[in-house]
Amino acid sequence: MTAPTRPTGPLSDASGEDLHTPVIDWFDEHARDLPWRHPDAGAWAVMVSEFMLQQTPVNRVLPVYEQWLARWPRPADLAKDAPGEAVRAWGRLGYPRRALRLHGAAVAITERHGGDVPTDHAQLLALPGIGEYTAAAVASFAYGQRHPVLDTNVRRVFARAVTGVQYPPNATTAAERRLARALLPESESTAARWAAASMELGALVCTAKNETCHRCPIAAQCAWRLAGKPEHDGPPRKGQTYAGTDRQVRGKLLAVLREAHVPVPQSALDRVWDEPVQRGRALDGLVADGLVEPLPGGLYRLPLT
Ligand code: SF4
Repeated sequence: MTAPTRPTGPLSDASGEDLHTPVIDWFDEHARDLPWRHPDAGAWAVMVSEFMLQQTPVNRVLPVYEQWLARWPRPADLAKDAPGEAVRAWGRLGYPRRALRLHGAAVAITERHGGDVPTDHAQLLALPGIGEYTAAAVASFAYGQRHPVLDTNVRRVFARAVTGVQYPPNATTAAERRLARALLPESESTAARWAAASMELGALVCTAKNETCHRCPIAAQCAWRLAGKPEHDGPPRKGQTYAGTDRQVRGKLLAVLREAHVPVPQSALDRVWDEPVQRGRALDGLVADGLVEPLPGGLYRLPLT
């Protein structure tokens, strides 16, 4: 028996144009006043916010973002400091390799682009640590360009409103990229507004759980809602477990090193997690990722180079 094929294309009759105006109008009225959205924020601020927001909610990002930009207002300021200082300042945002990648991008911007975040999408993409999403987001939000910006929130809105399913696939597919390109407004400035607006709609209204369709500006066109909200029948969604994982152990080990401004002995790290095999694996992973520097004499610190 042949397995049923899951839909990959739009099921809704709604065209991009049917969606653009209501979503952008909603955004004009309801968008959160966030510092990286201020007209004078600048491209570096947008880039910093995008690195931080990729896997961390806005309320946790805000204080770290403010401190970060106060300390390193330009890429060259960060590039002058040790990468370990970026890891320290990253604090408890999680996924701290992002701090190293942001530092690496700041160095490259300083060396290759005279300290200014490049405006060209290809040049952004060529920076170390910058992937398709971040390059498109910076080009769009900082420079008002026309690029599909596909983050988790946008993917969920498109999955529901256009494709008619509850959740997008676990990883971004070619079909989603095609759909995002097809939905992109022609005008550059409208496309940039659309990118920000569709993302905000996913963050505030079309949330992963308990979406509030009665507040949604495209409820009348939404394919998933019109179909009676069929339940997700795709592969299980990725969980977000943290307790007991290597990620948790890595976080505890890094916290010790962030607090200490001198190299710490192995014994100080051993105290944070009882299970030695998992602890050793977590520490080895941090060293392999360049987040921790082992020193002679069994000492450890955040990386200086
Ligand atoms: S109507 Fe509901 S499910 Fe559809 S896009 Fe709006 S919030 Fe999401």
